[in-house]
This record gives sequence, structure tokens and C-alpha cells, in this order.
Amino acid sequence: MAQEWDIKSRSEACTACEKPFLDKQEYYAALAFGEEGYARTDFCGDCWTEHKENSQAYSMWKGVFRMPPPPEDEALQKETAESLLRKLMEDDDPDKINVRYILTIMLERKRILIERDVQIGRDGGKIRVYEHRQTGETFVVPDPSLRLDELEEVQEEVVIMLGGKVPEGKGSKAALEAPDLSDPAELRKHADKVLAETGDDDFEDDD
Ligand SMILES: [Zn+2]
Repeated sequence: MAQEWDIKSRSEACTACEKPFLDKQEYYAALAFGEEGYARTDFCGDCWTEHKENSQAYSMWKGVFRMPPPPEDEALQKETAESLLRKLMEDDDPDKINVRYILTIMLERKRILIERDVQIGRDGGKIRVYEHRQTGETFVVPDPSLRLDELEEVQEEVVIMLGGKVPEGKGSKAALEAPDLSDPAELRKHADKVLAETGDDDFEDDD
């Protein structure tokens, strides 16, 4: 079976008329789930009007095309939540589903990712669809519905993976008071804590 997490690039041009997108041009993205995994198509406004009726898409949204920035020198970059998430999504390790999810929330807090849709996967779990604000890539990330006690543990794992230090005496006693983490605000608080502990808390402003 196809994996349930994935990163899909945004096209540089309209799938239908093949005209390259211009900087700041609006585009329409459609994500369909097939046997091979997720397929993404991007349309210009005119072509979208023609195609939306027949679209079998699973998720659809409108975005603004941004010219990709020149590539940075990777050797000079330290590990960030984003570089770590990209690695983990490539590695295909099912044990890292919780870590991937926390990193995704961290990037949402940093306004690097925007949530575009939430779907229910084949196993009944939630699958969240995010878009990278700069590159337009789609990040498809299963939501593991973490409990607070699991969250504390994953949070520490992420801090260590990002080269930060876990403060002494930190435990997961809080879990006893709040066993369920259906409240996304709680999750975001934890994501912010990881960002602060790894010194990766330079939040970007929206434009
Ligand atoms: Zn077009």
C-alpha cells in the first residue's frame, strides 16, 4: 500500500495549458489519492474554471505562486525543524510518525507551513494536508492523535534531535491530569516549547 505521508512539489507551470506561473500569480492545487500515492496537479485560474467540474480531487485549495529563492549552501545550515522533517519524510520510518507530526506543528507555528485540509485516512485516522508557504510543496502528514503523556516524550526526542538540551527534572506527570489531547492549542504550546528550547523560535510574520 502507498505510504500515507509524502511531500509533493508544486508545479512550475499550469498542468493544463503549461504556461509557467508568474511570481504572485494565484494558482489552484488539487490533490488526488490513487494506488501510487498522492498525485498533485496545479492549474492557472482560467484552466481551473474548466477543470474543477471534472476534478476527482481529494483536497483542493488556492495558493499564491512565489518564485523559488536561490538554493542555500546546505553545508552552512544547521539542523532545523524543517530540514529534520524533510529527512524523516524521506526515511519512511513508521516509528517516527509522532516526531514528524510535532515537527509539522512547529513549522505551522513558524508560519512555514499552512494547513490546507484535513482528511480521514483508510485506517480511520486523520491526515493533515499542509502547504509550504515559500516552495508551495504539499506535506501530507498523518495525525497520530497524541496523548499528553506521549507528547512530553516526543517533545524531548525532538529537542535532542535538533541538538537542544532537555531541562533537568522534566517528567510526564502532567499526563495524569489531561489524558486526552484533542485540543490543538495544547499541542501548539508544546510545539512552541520545542522551538524555544532549540533556539529555533524566530517566528516569521505573515505578509
Ligand atoms: Zn492553465
